Amino acid sequence: MIIPNRSEYLKQQARNGQKIMGVLPALYPRELLWAFDILPAEIWDPPGDILQANAHLQTTICPVVKQGLEFILKDPEIVTAGYLFPHTCDSLQNLATQVKDLIGISAPVYTFYNPKGAFRQATRNYYQDVLRELQTTLEQLHGPCDPEKLQTACQLGFKIDTRWNELQKAWMSDQLPVTNQEYFGLMRALEYMQPADYLELLDQVTVQDQTVIRNDTRLLVSGILPPDIETLSFLDELKVRIVADDLLAGSRRIPIVCMDPPYDPMEHLTDRFFMLPPCSTRANSLAERSHYLKTLIAKSDAQGVLFNIVKFCEPELFDHQFLVKSLKSAGLPLLNLETELQPGLSGQTKTRIEAFIEMLDDQVTA
Ligand code: SF4
Repeated sequence: MIIPNRSEYLKQQARNGQKIMGVLPALYPRELLWAFDILPAEIWDPPGDILQANAHLQTTICPVVKQGLEFILKDPEIVTAGYLFPHTCDSLQNLATQVKDLIGISAPVYTFYNPKGAFRQATRNYYQDVLRELQTTLEQLHGPCDPEKLQTACQLGFKIDTRWNELQKAWMSDQLPVTNQEYFGLMRALEYMQPADYLELLDQVTVQDQTVIRNDTRLLVSGILPPDIETLSFLDELKVRIVADDLLAGSRRIPIVCMDPPYDPMEHLTDRFFMLPPCSTRANSLAERSHYLKTLIAKSDAQGVLFNIVKFCEPELFDHQFLVKSLKSAGLPLLNLETELQPGLSGQTKTRIEAFIEMLDDQVTA
């Protein structure tokens, strides 16, 4: 399995004349963009130093917003169809206003105000309204939305979800022979790949018929983003396997159960949104999140939880304290790491990870 390099892949797409839209985290109807022949290129943690963004932001803003703004201020040539800001948190909502009204960039800026809180008929209706509104806004620049293209896009999205559900099950039950790095590389490749290319990539992954017997330490990871490459590779070295995730850039964007094939695109996209796992950014209840995490831990047989917290991430930090209490009272071991999205793994962090893994291994042998 060879995962295409994000930057090279997007540059090649741009050279081919592909319209590309920069999309900030996290939940948006990618199928709608595909139907307009727009390729979403998601902007979560672009590499590089922060040079210009700090001048526009408070110091207590999370690095996802900082890196995102830095990327936008560079005015990258590949982004030809503007930027989309989903309503993930107050910081991103403010950033959308800043980019649109204060900084003033030449590319179009779109917003997508997905609903928060519990599922009700009113929130469902609201979600359909914002979907239609986004469609209408895109039509102003890209022409009428072709219903057949939207249906095809939903079919592709459905096939990707279905395959993801299979791979996740195989991952939890030790039937997926991939490293931590490969797994998250694969999961995140949809942030920039064409859906048909991505499906081909997923199809290259072999699910073993039999459980691969391993003695690895098993972890669940929770947060916004997976640990960086250095940390994943260090976990690989230590024979620690992440067997399940509760990540916004991961399984929180995959429906909790296999859906039926799409028959009506708008209904399908709406159903899909309300079938996503609970998330801090959608204001799901703490009880729901705690229950979901405990179920995931039991299903994956994880021995402990690694919280990978993005510094200054308000939605996550709000839930985090409660989740820690709830998991600790259930006797589940936890390790909290904080990330500023800078590459490199400090000696101190390595020592903390090693000590945590040793403690988990001692529990097994005790
Ligand atoms: S890391 Fe947290 S605060 Fe930052 S953009 Fe994501 S959800 Fe918002």
